[in-house]
Amino acid sequence: MKSLSAAVFRMVFLVALAVVLICAAFMAWVLYDSIGIKEQRDLRNEVLLIEQSLSSVDNRASYISSLGNENLRVTWIEAEGTVLFDSRVANPTTMENHLDRPEVAAALADGSGQSSRYSNTLGEVTYYNTLRLDDGTVLRLSSSQNAVYTVLNTLVLPIILVLVAVAALAAVIAGLMSRRLVQPINNLDLDKPLENVVYSEITPLLQRISTQRANLESQVDEAAQRRREFTANVSHELKTPLTVISGYAELMKTGVAKPEDIKYFSELIYNEAGHMRELVEDILAISHLDESIANDDEPKELSEVNLVKLTQRIVQRLIPYAQQGEVRIEETFQRSDIFVRGPEGVLNEIIYNLIENAIRYNHSGGSVRVLVSEDAGVVRLKVSDTGIGIAPEYQDKVFERFYCVDRSRSRDTGGTGLGLAIVKHGVQYLGAHLKLESTPGVGTTITVEFSAYVPRPCL
Ligand code: ATP
Ligand code: MG
Repeated sequence: MKSLSAAVFRMVFLVALAVVLICAAFMAWVLYDSIGIKEQRDLRNEVLLIEQSLSSVDNRASYISSLGNENLRVTWIEAEGTVLFDSRVANPTTMENHLDRPEVAAALADGSGQSSRYSNTLGEVTYYNTLRLDDGTVLRLSSSQNAVYTVLNTLVLPIILVLVAVAALAAVIAGLMSRRLVQPINNLDLDKPLENVVYSEITPLLQRISTQRANLESQVDEAAQRRREFTANVSHELKTPLTVISGYAELMKTGVAKPEDIKYFSELIYNEAGHMRELVEDILAISHLDESIANDDEPKELSEVNLVKLTQRIVQRLIPYAQQGEVRIEETFQRSDIFVRGPEGVLNEIIYNLIENAIRYNHSGGSVRVLVSEDAGVVRLKVSDTGIGIAPEYQDKVFERFYCVDRSRSRDTGGTGLGLAIVKHGVQYLGAHLKLESTPGVGTTITVEFSAYVPRPCL
């Protein structure tokens, strides 16, 4: 992961270093220039000294001829530009006229002059300083410096020292700055995001964290509330059959029950126990689906299921129940093979609960229509009934766990209000869609839409 303080440090350090380099270059330029100034000053002092000495000298020409050394070149020029003497040239008559030299021209015009010339071939700078003597001749002193060498020689050490010092300083400042910049972020109190007084740039982030926290808290509250309700409902639903079972069992145990009632009582106990088993199975199924959805699990045991065959089997199982209620079941299948993908158990729960409800909440003489079709990659399972219907205000609620519109009717027929919750969870788990249309007194239609599974042709 990237470290913010390291990033800030790097940035500040690089900027500081760049500033230092620019400063160093500027310093080099200024110093280079000041070398020129110093050199000219030295030459001027020297030329003035010579002028002074000349006043007490008898033979000017021989005195000037004795001047000059390795570092200092002396040239004596006539007012017409002819070179009379040059300490570097044995025969000055071969030299060209010097009137065009700017320092000579300046001395002739103003009494003194100076200039510098850079020789590319030698890589040298030569400084010239001139003075017009009282006899109208011009005395010129010059000295040369290797430009690069001069700069390096005089400037390298200070530059290196300054660089090292400033780099160290930049590192310290960058460290301090990055720590200071990052500190408010490190000190954020994420438990109370909006109470932090920190950079305006991260306020949106804090607001987002705050909203998400609030959402999370309310979700946790809701989940806890749901769990409490669920536990209460489960124990309530289990208590009723248990009371019946223990009541009749007690009658039999204490011998209060007449022998001829024993069969009837055992049947009641058997039925209640069966009801309890169904309830426990439903609870397990729904908890299982709940967990898988919460964990975002990919549906396990995926297999292609022929929805037509599965529906036919379920209808067969429910025919006796429908006959009891005098309800007719009509099946319509677009084809004999319509495939979807899913764990068969989940599909079975969905279809079974929908058809069971359509029978249970029907009138005697009513009918249930089951339709399986496929259109443009969408498989539809449609269960319609001519039953009591569901009022609009209950149409969302019926999918909640343990919700029954008419508790006594559900209970009389063995229902606990878990069926549609299982359907909803199953549909969600499979990534399918659910639609309920219902008119009280007319009937209900519930449609589940799956994406079709196209079996790969065998090669
Ligand atoms: P369980 O299915 O757990 O045995 P149940 O049938 O009461 O019990 P659900 O299947 O979840 O529970 O249905 C919840 C409620 O929705 C039912 O009590 C009933 O009031 C209403 N309901 C469900 N299906 C229909 C339907 N086809 N027509 C009218 N009302 C229905
Ligand atoms: Mg049901």
